[in-house]
Amino acid sequence: MKKFFHNVFFREILKGLKLTFSHYFVKDITLQYPHEKTSLPDTFRGALCLLRYDENETERCVGCDLCEAACPSGCISVVSAEKLESGDVVRYATDFDIDITKCVFCGFCVEACPVNALAMTKSYEYSTNNKRSLIFDKAKLYEIGDHRHVEAKGYLVAHDQEGEEETVSEYRYRFPYYQKQEPVPEPEKST
Ligand code: SF4
Ligand code: SF4
Repeated sequence: MKKFFHNVFFREILKGLKLTFSHYFVKDITLQYPHEKTSLPDTFRGALCLLRYDENETERCVGCDLCEAACPSGCISVVSAEKLESGDVVRYATDFDIDITKCVFCGFCVEACPVNALAMTKSYEYSTNNKRSLIFDKAKLYEIGDHRHVEAKGYLVAHDQEGEEETVSEYRYRFPYYQKQEPVPEPEKST
């Protein structure tokens, strides 16, 4: 009999409608992307970037290759050289490329960097139909870093790699000055 009344009054349908109408009074949790965007935490791992020092805009990267060695995907390529700067020998990266199509956004490269030259940003909208444009070269990485240095700083602070108020000029590593040694003369052969 109970089943008969359930069938006559469409109880299951009424239950479903009740649930549907109850959602009219619940706040939406779905965001209408791309018109609406969620706020991301400072720990978010988005596009990588290269950073400069705040006060003089010098590139932080010293071309040490540690990020390349730490990368599990093998997507970083660094070519470095040395130059004389105010009497010091300074090492720098002549070329710096990251193949973002291979990157797994693990953040190991950022952790490995001894001078906090690398950081991650909250940028994630760079999908493209041109795969080649996803190889970020040095210019592109500095462009991202220049535009998103606040996010990059937030990432380093959130991962305890840099203090919030810390001035970062102290990271600048200078190799000890050395002079090219004259070749040691060969000892004269005794006759
Ligand atoms: S985030 Fe990870 S995978 Fe991506 S470049 Fe850095 S070390 Fe490599
Ligand atoms: S980004 Fe950092 S770890 Fe990578 S080459 Fe430059 S200084 Fe070294």
